[in-house]
Amino acid sequence: MARVVLDAARDHVIGVRTDDDALHPAHLVVVATGRTSRLPAGLLAGGLPAPDLLRVDGNLSYTSRVYRRDTASPPPWQASLQATLAPTARRGGTVVALEDERWLVCLFGADGQSAPTDPAGFSAYAASLANPHIKDVVSHAEPLGAIYRYGGLGGQWRRYDRIRPWPRGLAVLGDALCVLNPLYGHGMTVAAQQAVLLARMLDAHGPAACGHFQRRSARTLLLPWYLSTSLDLGWRPERAPVAALLARRYLARLLRRVPEDPELYRRFLAVQHMTASPLTLLAPSPRTRRGGARP
Ligand SMILES: Cc1cc2nc3c(=O)[nH]c(=O)nc-3n(C[C@H](O)[C@H](O)[C@H](O)COP(=O)(O)OP(=O)(O)OC[C@H]3O[C@@H](n4cnc5c(N)ncnc54)[C@H](O)[C@@H]3O)c2cc1C
Repeated sequence: MARVVLDAARDHVIGVRTDDDALHPAHLVVVATGRTSRLPAGLLAGGLPAPDLLRVDGNLSYTSRVYRRDTASPPPWQASLQATLAPTARRGGTVVALEDERWLVCLFGADGQSAPTDPAGFSAYAASLANPHIKDVVSHAEPLGAIYRYGGLGGQWRRYDRIRPWPRGLAVLGDALCVLNPLYGHGMTVAAQQAVLLARMLDAHGPAACGHFQRRSARTLLLPWYLSTSLDLGWRPERAPVAALLARRYLARLLRRVPEDPELYRRFLAVQHMTASPLTLLAPSPRTRRGGARP
């Protein structure tokens, strides 16, 4: 396992040491080794404090299977979703059209629920959902492979931005910095945003920008972190701050409105894809302007 090596004063990186004990000199080391990054242990060994660790775990899982999509009589939709939502909706799922005439069905479980990985159990779990599209695909389409389950979907944020002073020439990004619950689909967007930010800051200021980069990355993480953890904290109400409770209540109302309001749904997706601010959801949609309630 490669280790980052700092100078004796812990002021800057001097390189990376590999398993064969060779030191590879470097002015810049970017740690992008994913959720199992060993950097915290490496920093401790190098004399720096380990970062504070924030963890939120709603004990979520998802179980997936691919099916053949019948293109002769396609349904009038491309994707259909039933969301899990604390404190009561522990089961959910989604069915999404894939390339090569296939469906991807994912069955979600929260607060310890999880869909079985045997075909009969998977079908029974799908049949227990209110969403008719998921049930229909699972019961009528031809399965194209095995059933896979992924658990441990919690969020984890290592607060490198709080370590001061931060060594020059060391940058941490992507899941090595912050793991977002994949159910919300923000991880790749956030990692790409950080890569662009780092490139710009290095171009402008060189390796000296790394400490500032960690602090700016932390600011850009606040929104996706609170979006996903506000919902996950709902499964642990005793630990949920008031802001998380309010956010969850708001989201529950929004999700009730979305199936009836395509314009609101479009704005919700833009926020979900991080291409629009959550404030855009507060503007009244055409339906609301015609007399409906705001979410
Ligand atoms: C089941 C699941 C579903 C997901 N779905 C979505 C989704 O729909 N949308 C979304 O945006 N995000 C999703 N994510 C999150 C997304 O995959 C991650 O946020 C993203 O991959 C993070 O990118 P990364 O480069 O930081 O880490 P990774 O993609 O984990 O890449 C790290 C790489 O570093 C390598 N590595 C580790 N240690 C070393 C070492 N010492 N030397 C050399 N190489 C090393 C690893 O082998 C790996 O290839 C999902 C995640 C999971 C687990």
